[in-house]
Amino acid sequence: MVKSAPDRYHDIRDAVRALCAQFPDSYHREVDARRGYPEAFVDALTKAGWLAALIPQEYGGSGLGLAEASVIMEEINRSGANAGACHGQMYNMGTLLRHGSDAQKRLFLPKIASGEWRLQSMGVTEPTSGTDTTKIRTTAVRRGDAYVVNGQKVWISRVQHSEWMILLARTTPLAEVQKKTDGMSIFLVGLRAAEKSGMTVRPIANMVNHETNELFFENLEIPAENLIGTEGHGFKYILDGLNAERTLIAAECIGDGRWFIDRVTAYAGERVVFGRPIGQNQGVQFPIAEAHIEVEAADLMRFKACALFDAHAPCGAEANMAKYLAAKASWEAANACLQFHGGFGFAHEYDVERKFRETRLYQVAPISTNLILSYVAEHLLGLPRSF
Ligand SMILES: Cc1cc2nc3c(=O)[nH]c(=O)nc-3n(C[C@H](O)[C@H](O)[C@H](O)COP(=O)(O)OP(=O)(O)OC[C@H]3O[C@@H](n4cnc5c(N)ncnc54)[C@H](O)[C@@H]3O)c2cc1C
Repeated sequence: MVKSAPDRYHDIRDAVRALCAQFPDSYHREVDARRGYPEAFVDALTKAGWLAALIPQEYGGSGLGLAEASVIMEEINRSGANAGACHGQMYNMGTLLRHGSDAQKRLFLPKIASGEWRLQSMGVTEPTSGTDTTKIRTTAVRRGDAYVVNGQKVWISRVQHSEWMILLARTTPLAEVQKKTDGMSIFLVGLRAAEKSGMTVRPIANMVNHETNELFFENLEIPAENLIGTEGHGFKYILDGLNAERTLIAAECIGDGRWFIDRVTAYAGERVVFGRPIGQNQGVQFPIAEAHIEVEAADLMRFKACALFDAHAPCGAEANMAKYLAAKASWEAANACLQFHGGFGFAHEYDVERKFRETRLYQVAPISTNLILSYVAEHLLGLPRSF
C-alpha cells in the first residue's frame, strides 16, 4: 500500500477498511457487470452508522465533522468500491440540517440516521440550462397548501434508492427577480408518492454504473410544509451544500488515486518484460510518482477545505480547488494505472477499467473542471466575468 504520513483519523480508517474488506473486488465487479446497486454494501455502511457521520448526535447520528466524513468516503473508494452509490446520503442532509425547520429536522434526521429513510437524491440539473442553474425552467407555483411543480430534470442520481429528494425549482419567474440567483426554492419530495402522481422517472444508461435518471414533472403537488427555509432563497441553500459535496468527492478521488497507485505500483514491480520488472524503467516510474505527488497535494487542499467548513468559515474556494486537484490527480493516476497494466488493464477481472470509468466522471460532475477554473479566475482573481 502507498505510504502516506499517518493522520489522526486512523481509527476511522481502520474501521471503514475492515467493513470494506468484507466486500472484495469480485463483489463490486459483479454489481458493475449487471448494472446493479450495491445493496448489501450500502446496507452494511448504513447499519454501521458511517453514512450518518455528519448528522448531529441529538438526531441519532455521530456528529462528526466534514474531515471525518471525507475520510470515510476516501476509504470506501480506496477499497475498490464506489461511494457514488451512497455519497448523497452524506451531504444532502446538510441542506436540511442548516436550513430546515425544527419540525423538519426532528422528523427527517433521526430516520435518515437510522437508514429508515434515504435522502440520497438532489434534483438541480436540467437539460436546457446545464451548468447555468439560474436558467432552470422547472417551476413550483403555490396553490393553497401545496406547490405545483412542472418541468424536467436530468442526471438525477439514486432516485430508485432514495425515499426523498431535494428539488430546486423556480418559484418566481426569472424576469421578475432583481438578482438571477433569487426566486428559486428547494423542497423535500417524497419520491414513492411522486412516482404515483406527477413525476415520471426514466433511467439513463451510462458509462459508469451510476444510477441516474431523467425526471418529468406534470402538476406534481408538494405539500407547502416541504419547502426548506424561505421561499426564493433556494439557490443560496444549494450552493452551501455543494461545498460539502465537492469536498467529499475530492476525498473520493483521493481514495481512487491511492487505489490506482497501489495497484500500478504492485503490478509494475512484478510484471517482467525484457528481463526486468517494468517498474524499473523510469518511463514507467515517473508518471506513477507524479500522480502520487499530485494525490498528496490534493489531500492537503481537501483537509484545508474540511477545516474551514467545520469551523463554519467560507470554504467555497478551497472546496472547489480540492475537487479540481483531486479529480485531476485521480485521473492522472487512472491513466498511469491503465497504461502500465498494458492489455490486462482492459480486462474486467483487474478492476482497473471499472475504476478508470468511475473516476473519469469527476472531471464533469458535480461541477466540470472548466467551471471551477472560471470560478477561480473570476471570483478569486477578479478577472472580468465571462457569464
Ligand atoms: C453520472 C452523473 C450523475 C449526475 N448526478 C446528478 C444529480 O444527482 N443531480 C444533479 O442535479 N445533477 C447531476 N449530474 C449533472 C452534473 O452535475 C452535470 O452534468 C454537470 O454539472 C455539467 O452540466 P451539463 O452536463 O449540463 O454540462 P453543460 O453545462 O452543458 O456543459 C458542457 C461542458 O461545457 C463546458 N462549459 C460549459 N459552460 C462553460 C463556460 N462558461 N466556460 C467554459 N466551459 C464551459 C464544460 O466543460 C462542461 O463540461 C450528474 C451527471 C452525471 C454525468
